[in-house]
Amino acid sequence: MSSITNKLKIGVSSCLLGERVRYSGGHKRNQTVIDLLGDQFEAVPVCPEVEMGMGVPREPVHIVKGNERFVGVGSGKDWTEAMHSFNAEKLEELTRLNVSGFIFKTRSPSCGIQDVFIHQETNETTSGLFARAFMKHFPHIPVMDEEQLQDKKARENFIARIRCEEV
Ligand code: SF4
Repeated sequence: MSSITNKLKIGVSSCLLGERVRYSGGHKRNQTVIDLLGDQFEAVPVCPEVEMGMGVPREPVHIVKGNERFVGVGSGKDWTEAMHSFNAEKLEELTRLNVSGFIFKTRSPSCGIQDVFIHQETNETTSGLFARAFMKHFPHIPVMDEEQLQDKKARENFIARIRCEEV
């Protein structure tokens, strides 16, 4: 049975909440993120790679230059279309849920907002495929990653924007 809550909803990369969803079977629990959510927001955990069926543990993936394919590091297995299908469904769900913000995991080829290395391009970076689709679909919804949120002013600004307050 789903609970009814009036709290604003914030999407979060699941590994930041301590869920063991990383390719290695580990997590990236981040206390700053957990404290920010506290009991004033409702977290909506999302792990694109697990939810699109890649499993845990799994082969890590990277983004390959050119047509920006999303492929297994060792096998070269191409997950790009699966990611696009996942994005379309998940963005519809997040629209229905009326999320007010999203906290992404840094530098992930799925979740990174920026600074995601492109395979074999030492100086070139991009954004992860899910984060990019999210930002395109919701251009006015505030997004941050856990490293940006280490800064107190940035956290306050993020919360104010989520609450649609003057900043
Ligand atoms: S960074 Fe994103 S895709 Fe990777 S484990 Fe965390 S939630 Fe899943």
